[in-house]
Amino acid sequence: RDLRNEDLKDLRELGQGNGGSVKQVQHTPTGTIMAKKIVLIDAKPSVRKQILRELQIMHDCSSQYIISFYGAFISDPNICICMEFMDKGSLDGIYKKIGPIDIEVVGKVALAVLEGLTYLYDVHRIIHRDIKPSNILFNSKGQIKICDFGVSGELINSIADTFVGTSTYMSPERIQGAQYTVKSDVWSLGISLIELALGRFPFAESSSDDSDLSDFESTLSPSSQRPSNLTMRSVNEIKAEKAAEKERRDKKKRRKSKGVSLQGGGMTMSILELLQHIVNEPAPRLTPEDRFPKESEDFVDSCLSKDPDARKTPKDLLKHPWIESSRGPTIDLQAWASTF
Ligand code: ATP
Ligand code: MG
Repeated sequence: RDLRNEDLKDLRELGQGNGGSVKQVQHTPTGTIMAKKIVLIDAKPSVRKQILRELQIMHDCSSQYIISFYGAFISDPNICICMEFMDKGSLDGIYKKIGPIDIEVVGKVALAVLEGLTYLYDVHRIIHRDIKPSNILFNSKGQIKICDFGVSGELINSIADTFVGTSTYMSPERIQGAQYTVKSDVWSLGISLIELALGRFPFAESSSDDSDLSDFESTLSPSSQRPSNLTMRSVNEIKAEKAAEKERRDKKKRRKSKGVSLQGGGMTMSILELLQHIVNEPAPRLTPEDRFPKESEDFVDSCLSKDPDARKTPKDLLKHPWIESSRGPTIDLQAWASTF
C-alpha cells in the first residue's frame, strides 16, 4: 500500500506549474497509471514530514468531483504526490486546444466544481484556495474533478515561502489581505468560467501606461489590519515585475524607433495593474449579452460579487437555476470528450 519512487516508471511529462511538475507514471507492481506531482520544497526535514502527515487527509477524501489520492512520499529534496491520472488533462489545456468551451459544458464544470467545493468544506472543512482552469481536470469518461486543494497548511506555508504565485484568480478581498473563506473560491470559479466560455482570460489587455505604485499600496488594507504574508510578498514581486515590464517596454520603444516590428499590438497588463483592476473596477461579466443564456450570466454575476458578504457559498449556489438545469441531460460529456 505504501508508494515508493522505485516502483514508479516515468511515462511522460504532463505539465509544469509554478511549484513543480507533473508526470504521467506507471506503478509497476500493479500496472496502475498515475499522475505524479513533484513539489519543490525548501524546508527542514521535520517540516517535510509534517506536510506528509497532513497530506494523508487526502486518503479520506472520496467524491466523484475530487481527484483521488494514491499516496505521497518524500524523494529528497522534493515531495511527490501521486494521484488519479485524468487523460484529457486540465480545462485550460482543452480550451487552448479547441477554443471557447460550449456553455452547456461550462455549466457542467460549474456544477462539478461547486459539488467538489461543497464536499471538501462540509465534510473536511477544507477550503480549496486555488480554483482555476489548470486545477480542473477532465477525462474521457466525461468526468470533471478538481485537484490541488489546500489540505496541508504546512505545504501552503512552504510554497508561500519558496515562491509567489501570480494569483490572478484571487478575489478582491484576498488581494486586500483578508482571510481566505470558501467564498474566495467562488470568485475564482466565476473568473474561471468566463475564461472557459470566452476561450481567453477575462481581464482584457490594458493600454494604460505607467500607473503609480503608491496608488496600489493605498488600495491594500490599512496598516492596522496587516495584509497576509503572501499578499506582502506578492506586492514585492509585483514591483519587480512592474520594473521588468517597464524595461521591456523601453526596449520595445527603442526597437520600434529603429523600425523593427514586433508581434502583437496590445500590451499585457502587468500583475500590478491587474490586481489594482480587480480591486477597483467592476467585476468582469459573461458578455456579450445574448450570446449566453440569461441564467448563466446571472450565475457568473453572483460568483463575482465584489463584496464577499453579498457573495453566496458553494452550497447555496448549487440551488441556482443554471446549476439545477446543468444537472439535467444537457450535453453528453463522454461524447464531447471524444471530439478532441
Ligand atoms: P500552478 O503551479 O500555477 O498551480 P498548474 O496547475 O498548471 O499551475 P501543476 O499543478 O503543477 O501546475 O500542473 C501542471 C499541469 O499538469 C496541469 O496544467 C495539468 O494540465 C497537468 N496535470 C496535473 N494533474 C494532473 C492529473 N492528475 N492528470 C492529468 N494531468 C494533470
Ligand atoms: Mg495545478
